[in-house]
Amino acid sequence: MLALKAACADETQVMTVPHNDMEALEEICREHEAVAYICDSVYSTGGTVAPIRELTRLQAEYGLFLYFDEAHSTSVVGANGRGHALDVMGSTNERTMIITSLNKGFGASGGAIEPLPVMDHDGV
Ligand SMILES: *Cc1c(COP(=O)(O)O)cnc(C)c1O
Repeated sequence: MLALKAACADETQVMTVPHNDMEALEEICREHEAVAYICDSVYSTGGTVAPIRELTRLQAEYGLFLYFDEAHSTSVVGANGRGHALDVMGSTNERTMIITSLNKGFGASGGAIEPLPVMDHDGV
């Protein structure tokens, strides 16, 4: 994800908040009309898990878009190995995207996206 920050910064403002600093994130939500929060749901460094309930509260209050990388929790955490975010949330919604790798949890090649992005007629 760090490698992609520079590419994203060509298109939009990119900010980094400390692990699980929901006060800092809420301040950003208050100050900006559209905010997307991108994180691992289970961290490899700097913490344990993302505060999913607090993030969904910010989503309800500010329309925060959530993007969870579940590569560290798929197959290991949650009912049937569905991962941490989905286990806490129960399902995704129109402002949440979950992606994962099959490589680590299953020793397989590939990944998964939930929900599948809807493309318009221009393929965007
Ligand atoms: C390993 C990993 C990926 C990507 O996994 P691939 O092996 O490229 O499928 C993505 N996100 C996180 C957090 C990872 O640890």
